[in-house]
This record gives sequence, structure tokens and C-alpha cells, in this order.
Amino acid sequence: MSFSSLIGGHVSVAGGIEKSVERAVKEGFDGMQVFVSPPRSFKPNIYSPEQIDSFRLQYDLANMRFLVQHAIYLLNLSARDEDLWRASIDSIVGYMLLGDQMGSVGTVVHVGSKMGDESLVRAAEGIREILAQTPESQCFIIENAASRARIGGEVLDIIRLYELVNNTRLKVCLDTQHIFAAGLELANATVCGRWIEQFDNEIGSDQIVCLHVNDSKTGCGSGADRHENILVGKIGEAGFKNFLLHPKMKNIPIILEVPGSDPKHKGPDRENKERLEELLRI
Ligand SMILES: [Zn+2]
Repeated sequence: MSFSSLIGGHVSVAGGIEKSVERAVKEGFDGMQVFVSPPRSFKPNIYSPEQIDSFRLQYDLANMRFLVQHAIYLLNLSARDEDLWRASIDSIVGYMLLGDQMGSVGTVVHVGSKMGDESLVRAAEGIREILAQTPESQCFIIENAASRARIGGEVLDIIRLYELVNNTRLKVCLDTQHIFAAGLELANATVCGRWIEQFDNEIGSDQIVCLHVNDSKTGCGSGADRHENILVGKIGEAGFKNFLLHPKMKNIPIILEVPGSDPKHKGPDRENKERLEELLRI
């Protein structure tokens, strides 16, 4: 049995989106994830039609097979503050409009902070607005969170958003580091398998657009969002195998969001990709 899934990574768009493909090619990635503007700012980047055309041409020439954007970090779709809430919606709408031009599947979002069901209702209202303002080609992809104080820290949050938003363009991205930090013992095959079966029954593994595969600097249940290079952190070989080789998780595109083997932490690299491939070869 071989592992046939696609492995890509998060790459920088420094210098323009058209510069990102060559970075993915250099690391041997089959797919890519990008921020299309600085993630710690609400200021959007403006790209010319020529830059977008150049991106698409290079993407096709490189035989890339998967593209998503990752939304900025500052947003909070459950914010009570009207200005922050509105800025969050506008930022994601901007990402999805650009995603339609770039040919992406959609935008992966850390939805926001959580203080009870009220936060989920507020976030769902924002997501509905976003979906109403954006092209059919684009999915709003909820990423599970490392902490229970964030929306997506529990599967129940995702189930509730599905109920409230009720739109087929709502999808999910599962991050191995976040699942582990939120308390799932990935190394325990029974516990891990049960979690996946439950996810599949309640949401559906077909709803998962991609997996963020990252090791964890912090222990199981730490609640901290701290990514580490593959097999350097706390998840361990058994943890990755139990999760990624489960029949419901196989063949889902993988995006690496690891710091990178270079001490300057330049991001996901060939070394991490190869280590993951080796790990999943059985
Ligand atoms: Zn992630």
C-alpha cells in the first residue's frame, strides 16, 4: 500500500503572487497555500491583471494541483466590535474574489474567538455575508483551532457553524498540530480512530478540503498554536501515522505549515516534505 496524497506547503508571495509558484517548485511541492496580503495587517495587496495572468500561467506550467489561500490572522468574525467584524468580512471577501481569479479552492480561516454560543451565531452571520458576496468557485474553509477559547477548538463548533450557515460552500481544514494541542491523543490508535469516525459521521470526511500537517512544539492538550518541523515535535511517528493513514484521511491534499529546517525558519521545505513521505510509506 502506498500513500498517494498530494503534499504541498505554505509559500511566500513576497515580490508579488507571480513569484510564489517558483518557491513551491523549488521545494518539490505539488500544491500550495498563500497569504495574498501581509497576515498581520488588514491592508489588502493590489495585484494587476498581468500579475494574476502570470501566476496562473506559471501555476499551470508547474503542474501544481492544489491552491488555497490562508486568511489574515487579525480577523475575528465573532467580534462584537462592529468595525473589526466588518473589516474581517471585507478581508475575507477580498481574498475570495482574488482566489476566484487565481483559481483557488477557497480561503482557510481561523474564524475567531469564542465566548459561548453567541460567538458562533455572530460568526455564522459573518460567514453568510461573505458567501453571499463571493463567487461560487470559492469555499469558506473553517480551520480547527488549537485552543477551546477559539472557534473550532471543538468539533461541536464546526457542527454548529454548519447548522447555522447551511451552505455547501462551507468546508473544513484540519490541522494536526491544532487537533493535538486541543487534546486529542493522536498516538493512541483507538482514541484517534474514534475521533476520525465521529468527525466523519457528524460532519463528513468529504468536507475536508485539506489537511495542515505540522508537528507540535507543545504537548497534547497545551492549547497553544505552535508548529514544529515533522518528527521534531511532540506528535511522534505513531501520531502522524494513526491520523494520516486512516482510510478517511487518505487522499486529502496536505499543506505543510512548518517552520522549515533552515535555522532562519524560511517555512515549509523539501526536507519536511520528504520526511513526511518517508513516514507515510508503508
Ligand atoms: Zn494550520
